[in-house]
Amino acid sequence: MALTIMRRIRFCAGHRLRMHGGRCENFHGHNYVADFYVTGEEQDAVGRLIDFSDLKARCKGWLDEHWDHAFLLWDQDENGIAALRQVEPHRLFVMPYNPTAENMARYLLEEVCPKILEGTGARASKVVIWETDESFAEVSAEP
Ligand SMILES: [Zn+2]
Repeated sequence: MALTIMRRIRFCAGHRLRMHGGRCENFHGHNYVADFYVTGEEQDAVGRLIDFSDLKARCKGWLDEHWDHAFLLWDQDENGIAALRQVEPHRLFVMPYNPTAENMARYLLEEVCPKILEGTGARASKVVIWETDESFAEVSAEP
């Protein structure tokens, strides 16, 4: 038996998409929603996979520290990074790929969730990034 729970975290961030070929190549921002799906087999004595407040603290803690009110830029976006570094103060998070919703979900699932869920007995099975009310990207762990 596998149990899955989800915690939704909202945050604001800026980005731009290189090679987009449209207006998303300009600096702009979104009110993002991140849905963290966490799966495991073991319930604690209370009947929980992981306490929702603990899951919130882990996910929101990371987002608050790294992405909320920051600009997410690709490490190949040299002039974007240089421009942002001239602004004081600034919050910059450099990613190994273009900061699309797809890649943001992938980064959270592959790089962030294993660290923030360490020791909980639960693992992230899916992350969804909503960029607008109408569009999201979803990445799932291999079964
Ligand atoms: Zn955008």
